[in-house]
Amino acid sequence: NSEGADAKNIRVKLVLLGDSGVGKSCIVLRFVRGQFDPTSKVTVGASFLSQTIALQDSTTVKFEIWDTAGQERYAALAPLYYRGAGVAVIVYDITSPESFTKAQYWVKELQKHGSAGIVMALVGNKADLQEKREVTVQDGIDYAEENGMFFIETSAKTADNINQLFEEIAKRLPRPSS
Ligand code: GDP
Ligand code: MG
Repeated sequence: NSEGADAKNIRVKLVLLGDSGVGKSCIVLRFVRGQFDPTSKVTVGASFLSQTIALQDSTTVKFEIWDTAGQERYAALAPLYYRGAGVAVIVYDITSPESFTKAQYWVKELQKHGSAGIVMALVGNKADLQEKREVTVQDGIDYAEENGMFFIETSAKTADNINQLFEEIAKRLPRPSS
């Protein structure tokens, strides 16, 4: 794990995994910059962004966010990407059952090969597209519960639950003993 610094200032590597097009980059952009660009195409370049949040108990958490450029599609490269990650955010699109199946693959992969004690969140994104929904909320809840993960549905487009996602992750991080 890459949690560093003192008890009040936690630093952690966060990776996003999930099918191309589910909205990983948009979630990051919404969280870090408060923006949504509807014209953005599927990410072509890798990117690295960081964002710090303060919790109620005055702990600060600095997320070092690794957004993939699709390296996760090459199974052999994925471990390089999630190595040392203290948090994995596994994203699917609620309008795409295929992306939900792929999310389950990533959960298993991280359970086998991720850092010990990695905090995993399952995220059903594009929750604004209710009329096109094909994965039920209950499907997400059940799968997350079976795997001891935090679950939330988000919309990078409307900003719904984006800050909550990162706050809930922050609360679940192991606190280094001082
Ligand atoms: P990535 O490949 O997982 O990084 O996906 P992107 O973040 O590049 O998003 C892929 C497409 O989905 C883009 O056209 C976005 O505009 C769109 N998108 C992302 N998040 C949402 C969302 O919450 N709602 C809707 N309606 N579209 C979204
Ligand atoms: Mg992307």
